[in-house]
Amino acid sequence: MMIWVNGRLREAAEATVSALDHGLTVGDGVFETVKTVDGRPFALDRHVERLARSARGLGLPEPDAAEVRRAVAEITAGDPPPLGRLRITFTGGVSPLGSERGREGPTLLVAHDRTTRRPDSAAVVTVPWTRNENGALTGLKTTSYGENVLALAHAHARDASEALFANTRGRLCEGTGSNVFVVIDGELLTPPLDSGCLAGITRRLVLEWTGAREADLPLKALREADEVFLTSTLRDVQAVHRIDDHEPPAAPGPVTTRAMTTFAERAAAEENP
Ligand code: PMP
Repeated sequence: MMIWVNGRLREAAEATVSALDHGLTVGDGVFETVKTVDGRPFALDRHVERLARSARGLGLPEPDAAEVRRAVAEITAGDPPPLGRLRITFTGGVSPLGSERGREGPTLLVAHDRTTRRPDSAAVVTVPWTRNENGALTGLKTTSYGENVLALAHAHARDASEALFANTRGRLCEGTGSNVFVVIDGELLTPPLDSGCLAGITRRLVLEWTGAREADLPLKALREADEVFLTSTLRDVQAVHRIDDHEPPAAPGPVTTRAMTTFAERAAAEENP
């Protein structure tokens, strides 16, 4: 695997950053995961925009969009895998030990690796921790993902592939790397951004391409729903067949199946929706 490091494409083993990189030492960085199909990035404009939004939110300088695009073009050229994932990471750069930012940097890393299609349905668990919808980092895709790493390990230990958070008000929020939709009384609903969830790009596209709408939902909506599904860059639309010890009536049900088909068709037709 090759990795772009601050303007240079290197073999993964030589792709190194400083041990004093602020992204590494204190999580002062932002990132994006982008899907590639035969080397073509999907929805790259939206990802580059969100990277810049997260960087602004964290008080970092804005990543140079032209450089990000150049890195993506270089790293996806050649012999791309049928399905790949790009990881774009942008950090505060080299800084003295401590929490304050230094003057050297920022660091831009872009890696591209092959991946495989996610299963059509997933088991999920709810976690005993809450997402803070009022936090300074809420809605930013920062490299401070420890809470998500912990929650995902919690899910894996329970034979599930995703963990879902409620926020501090006990309202349904999101997964560790996905947004969540439920079908209640025939309506397709997803928590609003002020629930504390990330502004998922797949979530946005599903909202635009289906009749879904935002609704503030209690966590128990997961148990009352006729259908539940997750959305994310690498899942697209993924049905949920188990939530803790509860099984929704259908997975995928008719609304989920329609959302899957619509998403697949529109995404195949529009590389940069
Ligand atoms: N929430 C979180 C916390 C995430 O990390 C992700 C993955 N980026 C998502 C939701 C889904 O967002 P997207 O559809 O843009 O991949």
